Amino acid sequence: MPINFRFDNSYARDLPGFYVPWKPAAAPSPRLLFLNRALAEELGLDAAALDGPEGAALFAGNTVPEGAEPLAQAYAGHQFGGFSPQLGDGRALLLGEVIDRQGRRRDIAFKGSGRTPFSRGGDGKAAVGPMLREVLVGEGMHALGIPTTRALAVAATGEPVMREQVLPGAVLTRVALSHLRVGTFQFFAARGDLDKLRQLAEYAIARHDPDLSGTPDRFLGLLRRVAERQAALIAQWMNVGFIHGVMNTDNMTLSGETIDYGPCAFMEAYDPAAVFSSIDHGGRYAYANQPLIARWNLARLAETLLPLIAGDESEPAIAQAVARATEVIDAFPDLFAAALLQGQRAKLGLGTTSGDDEADRALAEDFLTLLHTHGVDFTLAWRRLADAAQGNEAPLRALFTEAQAPDAWLARWRARCEGERGGASAAAQRAAAMRRVNPHVIPRNHLVEEALSAASEQDDLEPFKVLLAVLRQPYEETAANARFAEPAPAAVTAGYRTF
Ligand code: AMP
Ligand code: MG
Ligand code: MG
Repeated sequence: MPINFRFDNSYARDLPGFYVPWKPAAAPSPRLLFLNRALAEELGLDAAALDGPEGAALFAGNTVPEGAEPLAQAYAGHQFGGFSPQLGDGRALLLGEVIDRQGRRRDIAFKGSGRTPFSRGGDGKAAVGPMLREVLVGEGMHALGIPTTRALAVAATGEPVMREQVLPGAVLTRVALSHLRVGTFQFFAARGDLDKLRQLAEYAIARHDPDLSGTPDRFLGLLRRVAERQAALIAQWMNVGFIHGVMNTDNMTLSGETIDYGPCAFMEAYDPAAVFSSIDHGGRYAYANQPLIARWNLARLAETLLPLIAGDESEPAIAQAVARATEVIDAFPDLFAAALLQGQRAKLGLGTTSGDDEADRALAEDFLTLLHTHGVDFTLAWRRLADAAQGNEAPLRALFTEAQAPDAWLARWRARCEGERGGASAAAQRAAAMRRVNPHVIPRNHLVEEALSAASEQDDLEPFKVLLAVLRQPYEETAANARFAEPAPAAVTAGYRTF
């Protein structure tokens, strides 16, 4: 079977003026480093046909597949709070869209495929390490059940890329429910182009919330849906200790998928102030700030939608639109809190709502405070709580310098568990359920770095492949993956910075 993407490019077709048609740069010596076979199958592609020189040429950008209409998308964005009216795909291209086996429309896009009219001072390129990082973290997130863009392939270009050092170049092929961002709306709002803004909003609704199409309140409805998706997403991030690191408005999707694995990292010892990004000096995107930033970004989206929500430019109409949009933004903290608590209950092994949300919330928060006070690893603590659910408290206690430190909290938790139906006979069931939501392995920073430097510096892909296989089964607990569950040596964690 030949390589056949069966493209159906609604963005190119429906939104002229929202992009620049553009071609990927040629790569001198393409080599396929990674192919996501399962994802290829999901997209209705022939993985075997892609896994060779033809696939390498395609994924490095040398041969544009039939039916693709590569284009650079326009977008703006608030970066660390400062507004740039023009960002856009400076090193990315949308190739087109395919309808996957489940009937979902998925974007196929390149990252690192060369300069575009949006490149500003940049070279349009990407390096092997960061692109393989997108694979490891993105596939890890996917395996954890968290909505995310996904890596279909990484091809080395054979071209050096100039960063602080000279690095081997690569192109990532990314799959997404769409690449519509808050920043896409900001681009047209900043230009006062109401017609384009309306066109974009109608497109987004048709693509992500088709049930709202044609309804009178659809623009407010879109805002509400994006808020709901982001609340659910950020709650999931928080419950696995994920720190995105660069929650600029151009990195927040309308679809609710995580996008752009640049300076992201998973926390080890629980610390709400955790921040890893070398450029995040003020801690704007620190762990605990993520829900606040999401809300701030949603307010920026709301601003762009105001004229559409209002319907006309009269003062009363605008005032009413502001009031209604504000209501949605003000509801976000409660939406987020509910999503977070739902996840926390599952992590605590609670099968029922007690009717007292505040008590359950306090139980979860006090567990986190305990971890913070004693510098305990976030992921392992939750995982070992599953052992405690079966009466084996020693592994959890062993994470604390003083084994009795969690006594009082454990007593409260046990009492809450015992209040649920099933009593003692439910212990094994509870532990099993907890092991399905509290991962044993996450993409730990030191392991990711190890795998990436082997790939990038020694051209050795073995550690990358081994780690990827482990991250794809995060809830397994075996002798083979025990090493990957260990926290980094303290010396490594202390100075860890992402770029
Ligand atoms: P990011 O911080 O990755 O979300 O990117 C922000 C903006 O910078 C986007 O418009 C990117 O296209 C652009 N950008 C990042 N790296 C490069 C590069 N090497 N060359 C050109 N543009 C880039
Ligand atoms: Mg980005
Ligand atoms: Mg980036």
